[in-house]
Amino acid sequence: MADEKALTESILVVGGGISGLTTAVEAAEAGRDVFIVEKRPYFGGRVAQLNQYFPKLCPPSCGLEINFRRIRQNPRIKTFTMAEVENVSGEEGNFDVTIKLNPRYVNENCTACGECAAGVTTEIPNEYNYNMDKIKAVYLPHDMAYPMRYVIAPEIIGTEEATKAKEACQYDAVDLEMQPESVTLKVASVVWATGWNPYDASKIENLGFGTVPNVITNVMMERLAAFDGPTDGKIVRPADGKPVESVAFVQCAGSRDENYMDFCSHICCLASLKQTTYVREQLPDAKVTIFYIDIRALGKYEEFYTKVAAEENVTLIKGKVAKVEADPASGQIVVEAEDIYSGSKSQAKVDLVVLATGMEPSTATVRVPADVSYDESGFVISEKPGIYAAGCARRPLDVATSNRDATAAALKAIQSTVRR
Ligand SMILES: Cc1cc2nc3c(=O)[nH]c(=O)nc-3n(C[C@H](O)[C@H](O)[C@H](O)COP(=O)(O)OP(=O)(O)OC[C@H]3O[C@@H](n4cnc5c(N)ncnc54)[C@H](O)[C@@H]3O)c2cc1C
Repeated sequence: MADEKALTESILVVGGGISGLTTAVEAAEAGRDVFIVEKRPYFGGRVAQLNQYFPKLCPPSCGLEINFRRIRQNPRIKTFTMAEVENVSGEEGNFDVTIKLNPRYVNENCTACGECAAGVTTEIPNEYNYNMDKIKAVYLPHDMAYPMRYVIAPEIIGTEEATKAKEACQYDAVDLEMQPESVTLKVASVVWATGWNPYDASKIENLGFGTVPNVITNVMMERLAAFDGPTDGKIVRPADGKPVESVAFVQCAGSRDENYMDFCSHICCLASLKQTTYVREQLPDAKVTIFYIDIRALGKYEEFYTKVAAEENVTLIKGKVAKVEADPASGQIVVEAEDIYSGSKSQAKVDLVVLATGMEPSTATVRVPADVSYDESGFVISEKPGIYAAGCARRPLDVATSNRDATAAALKAIQSTVRR
């Protein structure tokens, strides 16, 4: 009978961002067994990397913490980190799923005391801060990470550094013999909540990312302003640490452009307005210029837009940016755009440029190992019975709408557990 229950009442959620977490807790609290598979060493997805949420400007850790508590308290939810789905076969009500678990080299005995990292000197790029700084190869992914457990980077396995980490641990939590493992699960339905990746700004040749110093993307700006970011929250020029007196936000960087991503991500205008508040709060004398095509701030967000746009030292210029170039004489950056309202060419010389790049579905690059189809941008559209998508795997969304979408996906996934 136990197997029969597993066949009909288990749900697999792939992706542990806000959408996947919401689907998992909603389904589990409705009495289903849920597995969540997350490829990174921690849950929370891109939201865990934000500094604040618009429009209330509260820290994202609040919203995530509630979900983590619901997961911790619910024995129906089983979590896997550093894990990926390799294969899904079968049909609604009766899928066989193979999951690959990559070794963390640190087991559940870890207390996050940090002793294992103390003697380690090898550094790796810090993916949590979008590679703006480095971390030790033995690391806690971030201060609020769930699970709160260290990771040992594969780069140092087999070296003296790894042995040092093991010897330093008094809880027997370091296991250098861990190997990749395969787990098979039987589930009635699968919810794909694999979210988005920031569009690769280096593909947009005229906007200077990767070639002009102090040109960053909006996701990097979130980390630059965050207290646990690469500059401890100080908004400075990342290339030389110098103060910032002027910032330009370039909207639709690669979005709504058939050469790059032809759709609108809906949140980039609001993200730049939110990031303007980071600058206003920390550097009230800094000049902020937002270059935009249209400002998309619908419904309840319109008030936030009008409030930020009216602030002192904030200028909005309607016009697509043509060029972002270094100005070697001043060490600043020149942003050139057409100003639609004045009909003239607009030029701004600034210390920092933030490219508002959009949200590309992660399924644009890594397809679902199951029988589903996609729209031309790679979002999951056609849903085979028993396989659903939630949140930004389906379309670009803010957090509130991702949560609603994820709750709807939970309901569909539950129906697959009882339809047979
Ligand atoms: C600059 C910027 C600022 C933003 N600020 C706000 C804001 O202030 N307020 C707001 O409401 N929204 C904001 N957003 C939007 C917000 O980030 C999204 O709504 C949210 O991330 C959607 O969550 P998700 O779970 O659908 O996707 P994600 O956050 O991308 O989570 C997906 C998860 O799936 C995992 N995953 C991916 N592929 C696999 C795989 N193959 N196997 C297993 N796991 C996988 C990922 O590692 C990740 O943990 C912002 C977006 C940007 C670009």
